Amino acid sequence: MKLVFLGTGGSYPTPNRNVPCTALKYKGDILLFDCGEGSQRQLMISDLSFMQVDKIFITHFHGDHFLGVPGLVQSMNMNDREEPLYIYGPEGTVSLLKDLLSKGYFGAGFPIHILELEPEARLDFDGYHISTFRADHGVPSIGYSFQERDKKGRFDREKALDLGVPEGPLFSRIHEGKSVEIDGKVVSPEQIVGPPRKGKKIVYTGDTRPSQEVIDASNRADVLIHDSTLDSSMSDRAMERGHSSTAMAAEIAKEAEVDKLFLTHISPRYTNGEELEDEAREIFENSTIPDDFFEYEL
Ligand SMILES: [Zn+2]
Ligand SMILES: [Zn+2]
Repeated sequence: MKLVFLGTGGSYPTPNRNVPCTALKYKGDILLFDCGEGSQRQLMISDLSFMQVDKIFITHFHGDHFLGVPGLVQSMNMNDREEPLYIYGPEGTVSLLKDLLSKGYFGAGFPIHILELEPEARLDFDGYHISTFRADHGVPSIGYSFQERDKKGRFDREKALDLGVPEGPLFSRIHEGKSVEIDGKVVSPEQIVGPPRKGKKIVYTGDTRPSQEVIDASNRADVLIHDSTLDSSMSDRAMERGHSSTAMAAEIAKEAEVDKLFLTHISPRYTNGEELEDEAREIFENSTIPDDFFEYEL
C-alpha cells in the first residue's frame, strides 16, 4: 500500500501546495482523506487514477477540505463511471453534500452513498477497518484511523518439505492453522508458520488542536498525518484557530509512540517547509513535511 500526498497546504492553495487531500492506495482501492478544491487535478498529475477512487473521508466542512468533491464527481460521471462512490464525514455531511451535489444541470449516473459518522465509529471493509475519533477544531470534525487486518505468519516452504509435507492442499491447511498427519507423525503449524504479522495503522487527523483523542487513536501507529499549520513561535495563534504548531504535532507523535510523522496543512505563509521540519525533528526525529505528490510506501 502507499500514501500519496496530493495536497499538503492549509486554508488556500499556493503555487507549491494544494489544499488538503491525501490518497491511500490499498490493493485495488483508492481512499481519499479530505478532498479540497483541485484535488481531481492533483490526482491526474499523480499516477493514481481518479476513476479508481471509491471512498472519500471528509474530516470537516471548511472549504479547503471538501470543495473538490463536486468537480471530481462530475469528471467521474463524464467518464462513464458505473461503480458506486462512498463519501463519509461528520455530522451535517448528508444534508450538506446532497445539497452541493444537486447544484447545476447535473445528475450523476452512478450511485453515490453519503454517510455520516460519529466519533468512535467503526467501518469494516475487505482487509481493513476505518475508525473515527473526535478532532478538536471548533466545528464538527473527525479524524480517521485506517487499520489493516493482521496477516498470517510467513509460511516456510523449505521447512514444510523437510518435514515431509507434500506440496499441495496440505500447505494451505497448515497455513490456516491446522495440524496435519504425515506418515503417522503430526506436523503442527507452529513448526512451519511464523508469528502473525501486524497490519499497518495510518492515522489522519485533519485540522485539530493537540488532543488526548488524537494521542489515543494514534497509539503506536505506523504513520501519523497531523495538522501542523504554523511554526512554534505562533503556537498561541495555532491554538486560537483550532490548529497545531509543528512542535505540538511532534509532541503528539512522541507521546503516541508512532513510527513516522507527516506534518501537513502547512500555512500559505511558508514558502518551503524546511524550518518547520527541523523544529519537529528536534522533538520527534522521524518527522517529514511532504511536498505535494510525495509518495510513501508501507
Ligand atoms: Zn483546513
Ligand atoms: Zn478547518
